Amino acid sequence: MLGMMMQRPLLISDILTFAAEANPRGEIVSARTEGDIHRQTYAETLPRVSQLAHALQGHGVRLGDRVATLAWNGYRHFELYYAISGIGGVCHTINPRLSAEQMIYIVNHAEDKLIFVDTTFVPVLEAVKEHLPKDLVFIIMTDRAHMPENSLNALCYEELLTGQPDSFDWPEFDENTASGLCYTSGTTGHPKGALYSHRSTVLHALMVTSVLGGALPEGSSVLPVVPLFHVNAWGLPYTAPLLGLNMVMPGAGMDGASLFKLMDDEKVHSAWGVPTVWMGLLAEIKAQGRKPEGFADVVVGGSAAPRSMIETFEKLGVEVGHAWGMTEMSPIGTHGVMPNWVKQLPFDQMIDKKALQGRRVFGVELKIVDDHGNRLPQDGKAMGELYVRGNSVVSGYYNNADASEKAIDADGWFGTGDIALIDTDGFLSLQDRSKDLIKSGGEWISSIDLENAAMSHPAIANCGAIAMPHPKWDERPVLIAVPSGDARPSLEEIHDHMSEHFAKWQLPDDLIWVEELPMTATGKTSKLTLRQQFADYKLP
Ligand code: ADP
Repeated sequence: MLGMMMQRPLLISDILTFAAEANPRGEIVSARTEGDIHRQTYAETLPRVSQLAHALQGHGVRLGDRVATLAWNGYRHFELYYAISGIGGVCHTINPRLSAEQMIYIVNHAEDKLIFVDTTFVPVLEAVKEHLPKDLVFIIMTDRAHMPENSLNALCYEELLTGQPDSFDWPEFDENTASGLCYTSGTTGHPKGALYSHRSTVLHALMVTSVLGGALPEGSSVLPVVPLFHVNAWGLPYTAPLLGLNMVMPGAGMDGASLFKLMDDEKVHSAWGVPTVWMGLLAEIKAQGRKPEGFADVVVGGSAAPRSMIETFEKLGVEVGHAWGMTEMSPIGTHGVMPNWVKQLPFDQMIDKKALQGRRVFGVELKIVDDHGNRLPQDGKAMGELYVRGNSVVSGYYNNADASEKAIDADGWFGTGDIALIDTDGFLSLQDRSKDLIKSGGEWISSIDLENAAMSHPAIANCGAIAMPHPKWDERPVLIAVPSGDARPSLEEIHDHMSEHFAKWQLPDDLIWVEELPMTATGKTSKLTLRQQFADYKLP
């Protein structure tokens, strides 16, 4: 027997209309490319999104058409999210840090019809425009007064809106309709597109609010440093309006000093981003001798949050939520909100728990499997490849049959390529990406663990551990480190510092000091580039 309840499609347009009605005063505060701070409430946003939706339809955007963005975090980018998806188009966010070759590939692969671009990135498009689809329409996200000279024959965003009706009858369609497209940077081969749907996006937002809502009081401000071009800024443009949060958008100002000032001025309660941006902010906090006013919560994800970073934040009174996810998962899989029993642990033990990747959100199932695909127990000991399943997980890749086929196992689970264990309290402990694990004498060494331990030494600001070929042991770990000051401690001193956590054979064979580490387009240490840089290196 079926229940007798209405069934309404889960649509993204409902999130904004809800916010405009139920949280009309919630604000989007943006550090703009024009150089000022712009403020706009959700109630003021909906009419502009309506105007934009009319304009998009006027430019021929129909159900399923891809419309691209190449932009910082700001209110116009937010408006595009809702207008494009709201009329049934697909919002294709492009990472401006991609190589020209990757950008050309994905714009052509996605067959974008229009592309919206911030003034900053106009030269990026000009450099590749010969290789983009012939009838691609360019729109620069500013007003007439700030339109840069360009060779794109580009339209002006604000002019597009002028004169359009400021209400829109949002269409109803199947909730499984595609809404967004985000390509993973992909360390090998071409980037692959995760194609989100209205249903997956709304459910992901609800899943995240169900665990993070408590940490984000209504009316407080949240700042995504994680870009809107990287997995929808971890879903914040959808969760923030639902929770009645103000969104503070940093635009191009992602360095420590700019973030500090904006967070301080806007009394940002919670900020979200990858560990590398927090290194910059923590340096600024140290220089100023205080944290930004009101800063109480930080969500760290994208790569492992070093234990020392978690400790520093917590000592400043900033609660750390260490989350794990993937582009293919919309992206949140686990979250770092702690149950009371963990909060009551002695400080060191509490930090130990926070250094893990948290527990799963409802709606994402986790399993770890051995080399033969057999499910392993979640006992805190068995380590294997992590698989996930749920409504916010991809079922394949956009227009890529090959990759789609390899992505999903026979039981319908998605292989993450991460190696992990899960403890009896449900905490995920990510050991490594399978391709970054170091295999020495048949035993695995986690590069994440090595980096974490080394980074707790005060002389090391950042580091990467990579495998070097070895005639006897197959591979041996080598540590590539960026110093935090003038000190360059010896390998022996670093060994002493790390030895508490490692057996002797697991410690790195060499320590190499560098000025900086190569970064991926999503702000993580690029192990691939690091391995290439040290391809000719010989172990001592
Ligand atoms: P990309 O692959 O484009 O760099 P993703 O955000 O999809 O971007 O990367 C997902 C991967 O990032 C995960 O599979 C995992 O290896 C790593 N990752 C994400 N969050 C964490 C975390 N908290 N700790 C360790 N690794 C993480």
